[in-house]
Amino acid sequence: MVKLTFFGGVNEVGGNKVLVEDRKTRVFFDFGQSFNFGAEYFTGWLSPRAINGLGDHFEFGLLPKVRGLYAKEQLAFTDFPYVEPEVNAVFLSHAHFDHVAHICFVDPLIPVYLGVGTKLFLESMEETSSFCDYGEHEYQTFRTGNIIRVDDIMVEPVHVDHSIPAAYGFIIHTSEGTVVYTGDLRLHGPRKDLTEEFMEKAKECKPDALICEGTRMTLKENRRNYSESQVERLSSRIVSSTGKIVFTTRYSRDMDRFRTFYNVAVNNERRIVVSPKTAYLLGKLNEDEHLDLPDPLKDEHILVYFKRKKSGTYDDADYHVWERQFMDKMVTCKFVHKNQSRLIMDLDFYQFAELIDIKPPRGSHFIHSMSEPFSEEDIEDEVLHNWLDHFGMQFHQLHASGHMNKKQLEEFVEHIKPKHVFPIHTENQRLFKEKCKNVQTVEYGKQYIL
Ligand SMILES: [Zn+2]
Repeated sequence: MVKLTFFGGVNEVGGNKVLVEDRKTRVFFDFGQSFNFGAEYFTGWLSPRAINGLGDHFEFGLLPKVRGLYAKEQLAFTDFPYVEPEVNAVFLSHAHFDHVAHICFVDPLIPVYLGVGTKLFLESMEETSSFCDYGEHEYQTFRTGNIIRVDDIMVEPVHVDHSIPAAYGFIIHTSEGTVVYTGDLRLHGPRKDLTEEFMEKAKECKPDALICEGTRMTLKENRRNYSESQVERLSSRIVSSTGKIVFTTRYSRDMDRFRTFYNVAVNNERRIVVSPKTAYLLGKLNEDEHLDLPDPLKDEHILVYFKRKKSGTYDDADYHVWERQFMDKMVTCKFVHKNQSRLIMDLDFYQFAELIDIKPPRGSHFIHSMSEPFSEEDIEDEVLHNWLDHFGMQFHQLHASGHMNKKQLEEFVEHIKPKHVFPIHTENQRLFKEKCKNVQTVEYGKQYIL
């Protein structure tokens, strides 16, 4: 008997935790954290205590009590007994938080399968962020074309296009039929060919179940969405029409967007200024020859911005060891101030205080290349605009989503023709049911038999 159980991503965007069981074989696909995880009980500095392992999470039912899944030390202060692993493997579709974050609780004895590039992302995050720790795991990397046998289940990872490189969907062959899991994907990105390939493979295997993401399954989209090439064209138009500095802010792991702004800089005879964190990530991703990203140490178009720290004199000792390798590429606020007309600068919202030192002239540009805020009362958005107004900067909203829109989702499902569709990673299962055939709406923790 083959069973599917959903412990996350149910009526919410993100936090996917999908359990596939075939007789005695039990495999999780993704083990992420919801974006509003625990928001009813925790806020700001009131957060679950790491020292209590899963204790604080179990108190409020924030993680499922699954036997043989969690690390011994995570269960030490709970009444849920530790047993040897009864879950055979965890597969990760891509390195976004809402798909990977909770692997920190998983027993190190359970192997974690992930794409070659995904592993580089996780390593980079652990190495450059003091609060990021995914725990000890036996990682096994895969690429498209590999077939991984986990006892009774065979898993075929197939690359897809999403707003992070090294994203995969999975074709899962069980004793009772085939299950396809999309992970997150889009059809309007620079590598839509990857998603198309996944779509064809999924169709060919005539799946019994399609576990499908539905981020943009909404009646009406109020937010503007462009394709990646439109973002590039419109950004280039802004840059070519000004002699002033252009700041950009984007999701830190969206390397397509990095490449977009890199191209815009090169095509407009400018250089791109990035943070040491971005430089480190680029260096790391250079280890994967499939990703084709510039090497920050060698590429003359890339400069690395160092903030003042500790001594305030840009002394080597002020910086983390991992940052120091980029000191030859270092630029400071003074350099940026002096060379504004020849630069595009990646500037995260949380680094806005640097603007005080950079002193951009009025009429400089700011491209917000992320999702628009969900609500009109978004406090960070208000603060962001206060800063831009203070410096007299011009605001531009240019973003390409990482997900298929409603029409594409409908066509995607129609093309694959699965016997059953299980919508996850969506707030609108009901609309899924209206728009697509054979939809089985999903309840948290309920078992569905294939
Ligand atoms: Zn996601």
